[in-house]
Amino acid sequence: MTSRGVAALAAGLLLTATSGLPVLAQQRPPGLVPDPTSVEGGLWGAMERTEAEARRSADLNSDPALNDYVRGVACRVAVEYCGEIRVYVMDRPYLNAQMAPNGYMEVWSGLLLRAENEAQLAFVLGHELGHFLENHSLERWNNNKAWATAAMVVSVGAGVAGAYYGVDMRGIGDLAYLAAVASVMNYSRSQEEEADAIGFERMVAAGLEPTAAAAVWRQQQAETRASTFRSVRQSEAMGSVFRTHPLTAERVAALDTLARDRPGGREERERYRAAMRPHLAAWLADDLSRRDFNASLTLTERLERDGLDLGVLEFHRGQILRQRRDDGDLELARDAYLTATGYEDAPVAAWRELGDLQARLGDPEAARVAWRTYLERATAADDRWIVEDSLTALEAKP
Ligand SMILES: [Zn+2]
Repeated sequence: MTSRGVAALAAGLLLTATSGLPVLAQQRPPGLVPDPTSVEGGLWGAMERTEAEARRSADLNSDPALNDYVRGVACRVAVEYCGEIRVYVMDRPYLNAQMAPNGYMEVWSGLLLRAENEAQLAFVLGHELGHFLENHSLERWNNNKAWATAAMVVSVGAGVAGAYYGVDMRGIGDLAYLAAVASVMNYSRSQEEEADAIGFERMVAAGLEPTAAAAVWRQQQAETRASTFRSVRQSEAMGSVFRTHPLTAERVAALDTLARDRPGGREERERYRAAMRPHLAAWLADDLSRRDFNASLTLTERLERDGLDLGVLEFHRGQILRQRRDDGDLELARDAYLTATGYEDAPVAAWRELGDLQARLGDPEAARVAWRTYLERATAADDRWIVEDSLTALEAKP
């Protein structure tokens, strides 16, 4: 969204917010379409413009199979609201999902990468649905807090979206637009607890595993504690990149209590991983742009636990260590690349990087073997000439 677009959005909402209609207290009925002159109608209009931005975004993941899968999981928890939800998968390496009052939902690849199974994803999407069902954004709007935030978006530009991981997010999409979306989804703690409970009940009703709810938030807390950045480690873990959805210990404990004495359900782990697999390598490469190496290592170790996708994951571990460059990291990176090359799903780049590190670490024979393997396998790679040059230089040495 352009800054003019954000200004128009805020101005439009300011006008409709003053019409003084009562706050909706009950869950919305399925198929609700508000009067366009009402407060909610104004919010919908703004979100429709935001949705149009999402549809045009360069970050939009256009893989129909992935979008169908994620939409299917959303419908597993949305049930009677399925027909009014539009899901957009965005390739952005931060944990985030959000749902606007007009039924437009964004699911970011950072969430898809981190959820371990369908039950975890279903819980997070059910949580977002909970905000939608309870009209939380409208409640915020009526409390004047959301449009105060929107006014701030206009005055300070993109600052609100901030840098949750202590890194610059300007590389992803249009920050003013992201901040405008976040401004109406900055919920209170009691709203968060309510959304957790709704997400939990809907996920369990779909036959999925009750303990998945607390697990997905615990994983996020563990990643936050492991962060390379002290400011992140010292902050409370967040359920969203926008510093919304604070993950308090009370929230996790409440989900543990809800899961107690419930019969077990299905995790749908293999099905989930199969749906994500075609995008795994690209999302991991995106994840490196956060430069939160220790959080990324924690994530990688967790994803490796069930023994799937080890060629891709060990290659990623090598990439993290090679960039982190702590003492001994080059040796550890070499070992990770070497491990990766033992798996069928290793990317060809693993042999190129392995050759590079073997040469740097003083094993020219091992470097030669790795680079030759790379050239045999990467028959169409653009960088073949670089590897050929390196090999020639190596072989010219006495
Ligand atoms: Zn929330």
